[in-house]
Amino acid sequence: MTSQTDVAVAGGGPAGLTLALLMLRSGYRVTVLEKARSLERDYRGEILQPGGMTLLGELGVLKPARSHGAYPLRRFQLLEQDRTLMDIDYQQLPPPYSFLLSIPQRHILQELLEACGRYPGFTYVPGRPVSALIEKDAKITGVVHGTGSEAEQLLARCVVGADGRYSKVRRLAGIGYTRKETFAHDVLWFKIPAGENTRYCVQVHRGRGNPVLLYNSYPGNIQVGWTLPHRSYREVAAKGIGYVKDQILRAVPAHAQAIDDAVQSLTDLTLLDVFAGMADTWTRDGLVLIGDSAHTHGPIGAQGINLAIQDATELHPALVQALRTGDTDAGQFTGFTKARRPDIDAVMNLQARQSQALLSHGKASDTMRPIMMRLLGKTPLYSRILHRIAFGRRPINIRSELFSTAPTSFPG
Ligand SMILES: Cc1cc2nc3c(=O)[nH]c(=O)nc-3n(C[C@H](O)[C@H](O)[C@H](O)COP(=O)(O)OP(=O)(O)OC[C@H]3O[C@@H](n4cnc5c(N)ncnc54)[C@H](O)[C@@H]3O)c2cc1C
Repeated sequence: MTSQTDVAVAGGGPAGLTLALLMLRSGYRVTVLEKARSLERDYRGEILQPGGMTLLGELGVLKPARSHGAYPLRRFQLLEQDRTLMDIDYQQLPPPYSFLLSIPQRHILQELLEACGRYPGFTYVPGRPVSALIEKDAKITGVVHGTGSEAEQLLARCVVGADGRYSKVRRLAGIGYTRKETFAHDVLWFKIPAGENTRYCVQVHRGRGNPVLLYNSYPGNIQVGWTLPHRSYREVAAKGIGYVKDQILRAVPAHAQAIDDAVQSLTDLTLLDVFAGMADTWTRDGLVLIGDSAHTHGPIGAQGINLAIQDATELHPALVQALRTGDTDAGQFTGFTKARRPDIDAVMNLQARQSQALLSHGKASDTMRPIMMRLLGKTPLYSRILHRIAFGRRPINIRSELFSTAPTSFPG
C-alpha cells in the first residue's frame, strides 16, 4: 500500500512530535511513524530545562503534561560528603519557569500527541519502524515502514529523521556519524523511594568513591545514577552486585537502606553508555535530521530534550518555506543548519566542562574544586552560565505568525 503526506517524521520522541505539531498548526499534513507501540520507553531523559518548558508552554502542552505528574526542582547542588560546594538556585532565573522540571517523558509525549490529534492532517502510526528510504534521482521522496509482507510506502514532500541517537534514517541515508568519547564516565541508573523528608532538587554527591547523581523522579522516587569510568561496566560487573552496592553506599550513605532494598542484582541497574555524537551532515535532498539523530548529548546538564524541542522550533520556518516553494533540496535548509550548529557546539563544549568540573577525580582537581566553586559563585559569570544552561546561547522563538489552521477540537 502507498500513502502520501507533506512531512513524514520518523520517530515520535520530543523532536518529532514537536515538529509535527508546529507543521500541523501551519496547515501541513504530517505522518509520524514510531517504532514503539506505546509511550512507555526505556528509561530516558526526564529533566527539562526552562528553555524547553517555555516552548512547550507556548504550544499549550506543558500545563496538561504537568497535570499528569511532575516535580519542579529548584536547586542544583554539588556536595562533597557534608560540604556543599555549589548550590545553584534556579529561582534567580526569570519567571515563570525558574526551576528544572522532572517529568516522565511519556507525559510530554502524550500531550504532544493529543495536541497533534486535533488537526485533521495528522496521522500517527505506532509500532511501525521506518525500514527503508524511497529515493528518486538521489532525492529522498518517502519512507518504507514495517517489514516483509507488512511493509508500506509513504511518499512525502520532505522526510524528517527524528529517530534518536541510533538513527536508522541517518544510516539509511548514508550519513556518517562521529561518536565522541568526550565523557570519562558512564552511568548506572536505578530508582529508590523518595521517603518523607525528600528535598526537591538535583544533586551530585562526591564522597569516597565515584560521584552519584540524585534527583526526584515522579511518582515518589529518587533517580540514582552511579557514575563509573567510561566502558568499565564489564570489569565492574565482574566484581558482583555486592561491590557495586558498596561503592554507591559510600557516596550516599544517607540512602543506604533504600538502596539496599532496591538493588538486589545487576539487572536492577540500567547502564547508560555516555557519549556525544554528531552526524556528518543534517540534510540531504528531501531529508532533514533533528534531535538526537543529528547530535547526541551526555546526560550532564540535562540538555537533550531541550535541544530536541528547540531543533524542531528552529526547523519549522525553514520547512514551511521549503514546502511553500516546493523545493526541499538540502540547500533550503542551509540557514537552519548554519544557525543551529553553533548552538549545538556550544552546548557540547559546556557539557564537557560541566562533566569535568563535577565528576572528575585527581589530586589537583579535588583540591581546586572547592576553591573554584566558591569563586565562581561570587562572580557574574555564575549567572551567565546558569542562563546559558537554562535557555541556550540565544533565544529560540516559535514563529506563530506561520500558524494558519485552527484545530478541529479544543481541550475542554
Ligand atoms: C538514560 C538517559 C537519561 C537522559 N536524561 C536526560 C535528561 O534528564 N534531560 C534531557 O534533556 N535529556 C536527557 N537525555 C537525553 C534525551 O532523552 C534525548 O536527548 C531526547 O529524548 C532526544 O529526543 P529525540 O526526539 O531527538 O529522540 P528520542 O527521544 O530518542 O526519540 C526517538 C524516537 O524514535 C523512535 N525510533 C527509533 N528508531 C525508529 C525507526 N526506525 N522508525 C521509527 N521510529 C523510530 C524511538 O522509539 C523514539 O520514540 C537522557 C538520555 C538517556 C538515554
